[in-house]
Amino acid sequence: MGEFELIHHYFASAACARRSDGVALGIGDDGALLEPDDGQQLAVSTDTLVAGIHFPPGSDPFQLGQRALAVTASDLAAMGAEPLGFTLALTLPEADPDWLQGFVRGLDEMAAHCRLCLVGGDTTRGPLSMTLTVFGQVPRGQALLRSGAQPGDWLCVSGELGDAAAALPLVLSQRDVIDAAEQKLLARYWRPEPQLQLGQALRGKATAALDISDGLLADCGHIARASGVGLLIEMEKLPLSSALLQTLDRQQARRCALSGGDDYQLAFTVPPAQLAELQRHWPEIRVIGRAVNGDFVQLIDTDGSVIDTRGIAGYQHFQEDTSKNDTGKA
Ligand code: ADP
Ligand code: MG
Repeated sequence: MGEFELIHHYFASAACARRSDGVALGIGDDGALLEPDDGQQLAVSTDTLVAGIHFPPGSDPFQLGQRALAVTASDLAAMGAEPLGFTLALTLPEADPDWLQGFVRGLDEMAAHCRLCLVGGDTTRGPLSMTLTVFGQVPRGQALLRSGAQPGDWLCVSGELGDAAAALPLVLSQRDVIDAAEQKLLARYWRPEPQLQLGQALRGKATAALDISDGLLADCGHIARASGVGLLIEMEKLPLSSALLQTLDRQQARRCALSGGDDYQLAFTVPPAQLAELQRHWPEIRVIGRAVNGDFVQLIDTDGSVIDTRGIAGYQHFQEDTSKNDTGKA
């Protein structure tokens, strides 16, 4: 099968490539044409996933398709943007029909869930990797940024943390999992839930936001730096799932919540007056701390003392001597 046949058979005719609102021209020409509504800005974000770095070689293609699109769409959630379309630059070692079918099924599933239309891409031969670019729209001036947090704001997260990081050893070993709690963790890894509705609901309310992709501590550092505030995180307020606590002891579970980025929850700051209304619609929102004057991220113990977080840093590519395994990081 040639390149063009492959594109046509698997991608141009996929359910996710059916044109939707905001897409004036999709796959087939030299480029796509997106049409944001009047008064909207285009939000754009790209993520690359490389075999052996972000997922184990031999990973299930359906899961991979779902996850690749979910982690990329999560950036639109973090901007408060409404999804429009995405492109897929795919590098494949070979045109394996089973693999391609499974991968497109995964993409279709997540694209329908997120209301994202596949509008173009590129297909090349080489070691397996994929670069997805998502496009969304957000009313001019209303995008959620990392800057803007104010001393006095609450620091919140959109839901439970650490599940996907706890699943990483299972993902890497690729052993059969029959335990129900472990199954839940694995599902959280392979099918992160981009917080798109919440992201849009936070417009005009949250003062700063991002999606947690490198770990809570590291990502809170981004908000603290961009906003020029200090952030205090209360350790006992970290929301941990029952599946996580069934699988790991509390200390290990907290470590996953603090340094694991694979859940793709949102972290955001809100003025206290906004919180009750938000929590009425989004009961999963948890206050985990607050913004103060300063330029640090501190983890606070129940007795008020500051916990030493050196050694629980998040993940960075190109960082020497990382104690963490690469795989699973986006
Ligand atoms: P060009 O030669 O202009 O780069 P291509 O031959 O690479 O065009 O692609 C032809 C059409 O198919 C373009 O519209 C392109 O966006 C689309 N396309 C190529 N690969 C993919 C893919 N993996 N997923 C979706 N669309 C793709
Ligand atoms: Mg091309």
